Amino acid sequence: MVRRFHYLFVALQVTTLVLLACSAAPAQTGGPLSSGISFTVTMPRPYTHLLEVEMRVQIPANLQVANETDLVMPVWTPGSYLIREFERHVQDFAADANGRALDWATVNKNTWRVKTGGARQWRATYRVYANELSVRTSELNSDHAFWNNAALLMYRDGSINSPATLRILPAPGWKIATGLPAVDGQPNTFRAENFDVLYDSPVECSNFKPTALGFSRNGFAKEEGYRSFLYLVAHEFFHLWNVKRIKPDALGPFDYTKENYTRLLWVAEGVTDYYGQIMPRRAGLISDQTYLDQLAKRIQSFEETPGRFEMSAEEASFNAWIKEYRPDENSINSSISYYSKGELLGLLLDLDIRRRTHGAKSLDDVMRYLYNEFYNKSRNYTPADVQKACELMAGASLDQFFARYVRGRDEFQYNEILTGAGLQLEQGGIPIGGSGPDTPVRIKAFLGADLEQTGDRLLITHVRAGTPAYDQGLNANDQIVALEGARVTKETFDARIAEKKPGDAARVTVFRFDDLRTFEIRLGSQVDAPFRIVPIAQASDEQKRIYQAWLGAH
Ligand SMILES: [Zn+2]
Repeated sequence: MVRRFHYLFVALQVTTLVLLACSAAPAQTGGPLSSGISFTVTMPRPYTHLLEVEMRVQIPANLQVANETDLVMPVWTPGSYLIREFERHVQDFAADANGRALDWATVNKNTWRVKTGGARQWRATYRVYANELSVRTSELNSDHAFWNNAALLMYRDGSINSPATLRILPAPGWKIATGLPAVDGQPNTFRAENFDVLYDSPVECSNFKPTALGFSRNGFAKEEGYRSFLYLVAHEFFHLWNVKRIKPDALGPFDYTKENYTRLLWVAEGVTDYYGQIMPRRAGLISDQTYLDQLAKRIQSFEETPGRFEMSAEEASFNAWIKEYRPDENSINSSISYYSKGELLGLLLDLDIRRRTHGAKSLDDVMRYLYNEFYNKSRNYTPADVQKACELMAGASLDQFFARYVRGRDEFQYNEILTGAGLQLEQGGIPIGGSGPDTPVRIKAFLGADLEQTGDRLLITHVRAGTPAYDQGLNANDQIVALEGARVTKETFDARIAEKKPGDAARVTVFRFDDLRTFEIRLGSQVDAPFRIVPIAQASDEQKRIYQAWLGAH
């Protein structure tokens, strides 16, 4: 897979869940009914993957009682911007009041209408099939239970702000971890002040040690994988402030029945990614050089994404529901990720603020400002608030920056800003965005198709817009069977293309669906060198000071 999607995988799928409260108390049944809604979740047969839910509703004496009540299952969970239809895993729904069965019917895909007939105390019971492990779904098996409450617990329509308790009866020998506070005197019982809090508190039941992390079991084998793990932990830890406390406009209170739109995921996720990448450096876990080399790679990956001309950072945020979480073979040509562009915006804003203030202020001050002015005042921030916060710290209008790079799709002028820290982005000796080669440059032949070898099959996964492959008719999903009439693997295909010169022809034979086709592709040219971030000659004391303060270098 191309780097963009590998990166997306790390950023989206592999997410840390910080689970704070732990309880190893033995399971009990029964227990008092608190006012509001109390859930009991059990897992008597983990191998069936069925979590069993009992939802008790108690209407206080001072409130009017309805004759029917709608119970709603969320269709998505915050943090993962896709309609996932959690209701499809609900089965065996029933309702009763003091043992008397209540009639009910589904009135749309995710709403169960219960004829409560004026009962003040009644309950619904149902099971949820839980057999998909990810940060936004649920899994129960003989090893553990992990679930998101939004994928398991219904809310009473109109009562999303009601408090709730959650009692969990884990399988024998399992402990419980959740961020919800425990209820004093009630074993295995937790409290949520409202359903937004309940739904933002995942649960793990097993013989865990502390934190739940989704990461490939072989991910530590290589140094790069270990670094990805550090970035992951730092990213998720930073979320404790950015998103969990400092919240964009539309992200809470939530509507759990449909898409919730925001233009700010580039801040919520992208700036978090910026800090997730730079914090391991500031903590001394990776070197300056490693940070700069990896950053240059991510910049190159972004610069090789044709979709950057089609979608702004705000548009990428807004369209997360139909784009970010639904990538296809054309995504690289039609979209960008708010993770990758957001990280670069964080980088450029940070260095621009440092440059303009001669090192007195930074993006850290912007985050502190947002924390004080919004979280501490119980407000969410808007796109205009972010710009204002940055401008306050920079001591200057940043309207051009936001118009071109945040709301617009202009090419980043990296070196205008990197120079503030005495750095320059270059490829093969040429400054990016600069004019004319400073040193002789090596050029190589270029096709523009991304390939993936699966067993004997060599498949084109993406064809980048504007490349020879794109303009001369190769398609994503073409299966390459020969180059110059000879069988090839990815390795030999790349090697044969590398032997050619720009302007040479390449005869590529593919299966497209069931038909054999041959294309004579005239190869283009590409600089034969990676992007690098290097020190400029004769950096000033101020540039050196900004560099040191930025990377926390010692
Ligand atoms: Zn994140």
